[in-house]
Amino acid sequence: GFKSRVSVIGSGSWGSVAAKLVAFNTLNLSSFHDEVKMWVFEETLQSGEKLTDAINRTNENVKYLPGIKLGKNVIADPDLDNAVKDANMLVFVTPHQFIDNICKSLVDKVRSDAEAISLIKGMEVKIEGPCLISTYISEQLGINCSVLMGANLANEIAEEKFSEATVGYRNNREIAEQWVQLFTTPYFMVTPVQDVEGVELCGTLKNVVAIAAGFVDGLDMGNNTKAAIIRFGLREMREFCKLLFSSVKDDTFFESCGVADVITTCFGGRNRKVAEAFARNGGKRSFDELEAEMLQGQKLQGVTTVREVYEVLRHRGLLELFPLFATVHEICSGCLPPSAIVIYSEKKNIFP
Ligand code: NAD
Ligand code: 13P
Repeated sequence: GFKSRVSVIGSGSWGSVAAKLVAFNTLNLSSFHDEVKMWVFEETLQSGEKLTDAINRTNENVKYLPGIKLGKNVIADPDLDNAVKDANMLVFVTPHQFIDNICKSLVDKVRSDAEAISLIKGMEVKIEGPCLISTYISEQLGINCSVLMGANLANEIAEEKFSEATVGYRNNREIAEQWVQLFTTPYFMVTPVQDVEGVELCGTLKNVVAIAAGFVDGLDMGNNTKAAIIRFGLREMREFCKLLFSSVKDDTFFESCGVADVITTCFGGRNRKVAEAFARNGGKRSFDELEAEMLQGQKLQGVTTVREVYEVLRHRGLLELFPLFATVHEICSGCLPPSAIVIYSEKKNIFP
């Protein structure tokens, strides 16, 4: 019978863990080819070796996920066209700022019957307005695209600590079940939800809340303030989702992609970590500078996302209804000091 072939496009920390999860299953399920190609944005390591060669030699992503074996059936490939050739299941997992170029170079290169899934947290803002990454992939490549989001700090899943995730799908339950099967392991529990926009926007917007939580940490405001920021953030996430897509379901916020992802990243994520350092420096060192210094090539999504969210809200004249999102952007861009995050929390009854 027909066997599915999976390619992973992206090889950062989450990309590498995604390849590991998928490769475990393709090896064990007869409906899949064993081999999983993983596209690597090529770079030369300090040792002089190419990252791709190092991954294939050690079976570890020595730069973005050191110390974790990916599975012998994961093959790193720096050639994007070659990495997707023949694949009928495409897993997109790069930082969102690179998806535009990747999609453009993949036009007419993917199988027309391919199915895609996006693990990317972010969005594209085009002249016509905001566009989900899954929609963007779908439109550029002419294929269907589901999403997988959740409370998924990559380093914890890499160590096989239990976590949950949510697959968001448009209308084909069978396709959703295939993705669930491909990602589920004893330590990774995946639930399908028919609300692709809600699931994806939760994953995207929680990075803004995580930055706010980082500011609160940097100001040593304590746990109650952080909990308040999380609650305000969740409320603005819900309002923003419904503003863009009235179809978004309330239940989606109670899935792993919603409240659970907000919690984990407000305590353990990179956006939180760098935002804390930003606040401790009184906003005097930029996010770009701190990101480069603290994350060794890993990328934040929250700062660009909140700029895009701000643009959408400003364009629609709705900034006043989203004081947390607006304030986070104004702090990130240097217009307000980090302490402004707390002035927000003294305002009440914004959504009665
Ligand atoms: P990462 O931040 O760990 O690494 C950055 C990646 O970007 C590297 O693979 C690097 O090679 C690549 N890159 C750098 N310049 C590039 C370019 N010009 N073109 C293409 N690629 C380039 O990456 P990640 O954590 O795997 O993030 C991918 C997505 O997954 C993001 O949207 C992120 O929010 C999301 N995510 C991450 C985690 C996590 O814990 N790391 C968890 C859930 C979701
Ligand atoms: P950070 O990018 O802030 O580390 O968040 C990772 C994540 O999305 C976990 O679900």
